[in-house]
Amino acid sequence: MPISKILIANRGEIAVRIINTCRRMHIKTVAVYADADRYAKHVQMADESCHIGSTDLSDSYLNVDKIIAAAKKHGVDAVHPGYGFLSERASFAEALKSAGLIFIGAPVEALNLMGSKSAAKQTMLQADVPCVPGYQDDDQSVNTLQQAANEIGYPVLIKAVAGGGGKGMKIVHAAEDFLNQLSSAKREAMNAFGDDQVILEKYITRPKHIEVQVFADSHGHVVHLFERDCSTQRRYQKIIEEAPAAGLSDATRTDMLNAAIKATQAIDYLGAGTIEFIMDGDDSFYFMEMNTRLQVEHRVTEMITGVDLVEWQIRVAQGEPLPMKQTEIHDKGHAIQVRLYAEDPQNNYLPSTGLLELVKLAQIENSVVDSGVRTSDSVTIHYDPMIAKLVVWAKNRKVCINKMQTILNQSAIFGVKTNMAFLSQLLNNNAFKKHQIYTNSLDNDELDLSTELLPEVIAIYSHHLLKHNTEARAWQQSNGWRVQGEQPLELQLTFLGEEQNHVVSWEEGEYLINGSHHYLPQAKDLCHIHRNQVQVVHNNLRYEFTLPDYEAKTSASNANAIYAPMPGKIIEVKVSAGESVKAGQTVVVMEAMKMELELKVERDAVVEKVFHQQADQVTADAMLVELESS
Ligand code: ADP
Repeated sequence: MPISKILIANRGEIAVRIINTCRRMHIKTVAVYADADRYAKHVQMADESCHIGSTDLSDSYLNVDKIIAAAKKHGVDAVHPGYGFLSERASFAEALKSAGLIFIGAPVEALNLMGSKSAAKQTMLQADVPCVPGYQDDDQSVNTLQQAANEIGYPVLIKAVAGGGGKGMKIVHAAEDFLNQLSSAKREAMNAFGDDQVILEKYITRPKHIEVQVFADSHGHVVHLFERDCSTQRRYQKIIEEAPAAGLSDATRTDMLNAAIKATQAIDYLGAGTIEFIMDGDDSFYFMEMNTRLQVEHRVTEMITGVDLVEWQIRVAQGEPLPMKQTEIHDKGHAIQVRLYAEDPQNNYLPSTGLLELVKLAQIENSVVDSGVRTSDSVTIHYDPMIAKLVVWAKNRKVCINKMQTILNQSAIFGVKTNMAFLSQLLNNNAFKKHQIYTNSLDNDELDLSTELLPEVIAIYSHHLLKHNTEARAWQQSNGWRVQGEQPLELQLTFLGEEQNHVVSWEEGEYLINGSHHYLPQAKDLCHIHRNQVQVVHNNLRYEFTLPDYEAKTSASNANAIYAPMPGKIIEVKVSAGESVKAGQTVVVMEAMKMELELKVERDAVVEKVFHQQADQVTADAMLVELESS
C-alpha cells in the first residue's frame, strides 16, 4: 500500500525538508506544532496542520499520545520523525505500530539496541566490528568504574549510556580527577536523559570523526552511500560536514565501508542509518555508535550521490526494495555543509536568542539552504538554536570551499549573534584547507582564529555608507558619524566587545584610515548593514561590529556582578558573602539548555552578596552574585 499522507513529528528545517520531498512525491503532509510555532514555516508549508500543545516539549513534540491523536485525526498512513525528538525512541515506534501507523524509521529492536551505547558496543564487538577500547558493562559501582578507567589508561572519556549530542561526556586526564568528572557526567546524563549509567572509553587524542551512510530494505538488501567527515566540531557537536572524507586512503575507505555494512547486517536493520567511526592518527578506526535515523548532515551525501534519502526512507517504509543496487551508487565531486547557529563563538558558543531582524541566505548553483526560519521569526530557548544548514557541491574540495565562502559572504543575519564570522574563519583556516582538523581542535584552541579589525574593513564600511546606502547613512549620521563638509569622518564602534575609534578621510582617490593606511574597496568587498549592526566581508573573512545604539537601553552587564546569561537552573553556588575570589574563578554553575555553564568572575574581588541558591530557577540577566565594587 503506497503511503499517501505523512505526519511530520518534528519542526524547523528538517520538517520543511521532508515536506519538500513529499510534495515532489505527491504525498500529502501534516505538520504538528506547539504554541511557540503557530506561525512557523513548517506549519505554513504543510498541506494540513495540527496544534498539539504548549511550548513545553513534553506537551508537544515529545508527547507520543498527542502526536498519535493528531495522526489519527488527520487520517495519515505514516509518521516521519525527522531527527532528534522522538526519532530514536523505541516506545514511539511501538505505539505507532499498535495504532496501525507506519513509522518511517528504524525497527524497534534496532532502536533499543543502538539507543544504549553499552549494548551497541557489545553487539558490534560480537559482530567483529572494531570498537574503541573501553568499559561497557552493567556494574556501575564507583570502584569498578575507577578501576576500569585505570586499566584503560588516561586520558579516559566518560560517556552516558543513553547519550547524544555530546551531553554527559567528560574527558578525564588523570586518576585524581576521575570521581569529580564522573559525578558531573552522571548529573548531566540524569538531567538530559533520565539515566545516569556510563561507559568508559580510551580517549583518542587525534581523532577524526568519519561516518558511513547506510540503507537497508525489507528485501534483505543493505547498501552504503559512502562516508562523511564530521571532524569539525565544537563541544562534541558537528558544525561543518563534508563528503567524501578528504585524505582517506582507498584501502582504509574500503575497509570502513565494509565494516559499516557488516555492522548494519549484524542488527537486522531497516531504513536509513549512520555508522559513526572514530579514526586515530594511524588510520585505525573504531565503531563509536549507530544513529538510527536521518542525520542532520545527510544533505552532503545526497549531493555526491544524487539520491534523495528522504524519498528512499519513504519507499523502504512502504515495503519497496531499495531503488539502487550497491554497484549503481556512485559518488561524484565534493559537498560541504555548514551549520549556521544562533550562538556566540566568542563566549563559549552560548546560544543567542531573540528576534531574527533580518535573514538573508544566499543560494548559488548546486547549493541548498535548509532553514526553518524567516525574517521576523525568533530564536527561542525552547528549541535548538540552529538557524540554517548551508550546503554546496563542486567538482572538488577546493572549489567547494570557495563556493561555500561565496555563499557565506553573500548571506547575512541580524538580530541575534551567529557563528557566521567563525564559519568563514574556519573555511579560511590553513589546517581546515589541508584537512588537518580533528574533533578536538576547536575545543583545544589549536587553530589560529584570532582577528583584528583591519583598516581595510573601516574603509569598506565608510565607502558603503557614503556611496551606496542612503538609508543607513541617514540613520548612522545621527548615531555616531559626524560629517562636516570635507572634514574626516569620526567613527566609534564596538568590535568583539572592545570599543574603538577611527578617523577616515579621502585622499588622492583612496580612503585614508587613521592617518596611516590607504585602501580603496574592491568589488569583492561586501558590506551588510542593519540598524547599528555592520558586517563587512574582506578576503573571505567576516567582520561584525556595532555602532553606538542610542535606541537600546544600556546593558546591565559589568565586572561587579555575575548575571545569568540565559534562563536556567542553578546547579551549584561555589561562594558565599565575604569570600575573596580570584579572576577567572568559577562562582556559580548553572544549567541552561541542558548544558552546564560555569560562570566566572572577571577580576579579583570580594563577594558582596549571593542572590540565589542551588536548584533555583533563574531568568536571563538575573543577578546571581554581586561583588564589592572595585
Ligand atoms: P553523542 O552520542 O553524544 O553524539 P558520540 O559517541 O557520537 O556521542 O561522540 C561524539 C563526539 O565525541 C565524536 O564525534 C568525537 O568527536 C568525540 N568522541 C567520542 N568518542 C571519543 C573517543 N573515544 N575519543 C575521543 N573523542 C571521542
